[in-house]
Amino acid sequence: MKELILCKYGEIALKGLNKSNFESVLSKNVKRRLADLGRFEVTRAQSTIYVEPLDEDIDMDEAVERLKKVFGIAKLTRALEVEKSLDAILNDTMEYLAQAFEGAKTFKVNAKRADKKFPYKSPEICSELGHKILEVFPELSVNVREPDVTVTVEIREKHAFINALRIDGAGGIPVGTGGRGMLLLSGGIDSPVAGYMIAKRGVVVQAIHFEAPPYTSERARLKVEKLASKIAEYCGDITFHCVPFTEIQEAIRDNCPEELFTIIMRRLMMEIAQRISAAEDCSCLITGESLGQVASQTMYAMVCTDAVCRIPVFRPCIGMDKSEIVEISRKIDTFETSIQPYEDCCTVFTPKHPKTRPVLDDVVKAQGSFDFEPLIRKAVEGTERKIIRKYL
Ligand code: ATP
Ligand code: MG
Repeated sequence: MKELILCKYGEIALKGLNKSNFESVLSKNVKRRLADLGRFEVTRAQSTIYVEPLDEDIDMDEAVERLKKVFGIAKLTRALEVEKSLDAILNDTMEYLAQAFEGAKTFKVNAKRADKKFPYKSPEICSELGHKILEVFPELSVNVREPDVTVTVEIREKHAFINALRIDGAGGIPVGTGGRGMLLLSGGIDSPVAGYMIAKRGVVVQAIHFEAPPYTSERARLKVEKLASKIAEYCGDITFHCVPFTEIQEAIRDNCPEELFTIIMRRLMMEIAQRISAAEDCSCLITGESLGQVASQTMYAMVCTDAVCRIPVFRPCIGMDKSEIVEISRKIDTFETSIQPYEDCCTVFTPKHPKTRPVLDDVVKAQGSFDFEPLIRKAVEGTERKIIRKYL
């Protein structure tokens, strides 16, 4: 018996003239995400993407798990393809429905006919199948208002489809329809969540990480790469840039007032990130900052960091409480990795009393007392670039 996965769009159904572009990006993302599981045919009709396995031994549970992480899909349905006859609809579907009815008490049947020539009208199909279900599953009863399970019969051109197993998709819009952005990825909880949130709005995410060996270890970097590979399950492959930041941090320590260390360091991170963004055709920066969470995340501090930025800085977590960010990080399975206690370059030379209300003029003056340009260039040149794929 052949099982198919039907992917229903969410918001992209509303996109008017752009719809076909959104649909084709989504189809491509679906194909790419399933590529190593076997051969599939991916087709589109009536705001649905049909994913049909072409090989016998394809792991459909794994296919569903992967598609649950593809942005642009609001609902997934595991559907059974049956011959287009009332007999098949009544008799070949009971085993499949048994799975869908596990734990359920009530159901209803819906029927849709794309093929109006089918000799039975929708109400007839509903009534026939409803009776059959009551006969085979006598513990169930019909509830048309709030059924535990809705069984849908779709009569299409070539086949009929039965579906009852409905699963929530990732929502959002397809990655690749919203431009490219550079995520400043630390080893913490917030920045992977920020990357996930911006990818959900269709943006292709690249990641940049600043490391300060020997103050930060190889293991700290591996942790960040692991986080990148975790969010790659949602974002797709991630181009990852690792910037050698030690000399810059030492220069800040040796030449700038301690209370401004963090803010100057963040301005230099932004400067390097946007130079690499320009080379990679990324048009925004993304951080995991949340307003007021720490001294460097006050509005005054952000004014000072953003003053060096020539492209927009997006901060998807800006209005979220830590607990809300943690909830998402658990959902996307980055939390356990994020809380592993490895050092981050941000914590290497933390001032005892960072300024929570830095004044831009003072910061510019303090930073101007040393010529960082040669070190910035050296850091950009020394940046390692690699592609990080989904964590397996
Ligand atoms: P996170 O949980 O994302 O680490 P945080 O609450 O620890 O955030 P900070 O350490 O102040 O906050 O960092 C704020 C943001 O700056 C991070 O969300 C991230 O986007 C960026 N950032 C911090 N450290 C690094 C780093 N070593 N490399 C790249 N980006 C960084
Ligand atoms: Mg951090």
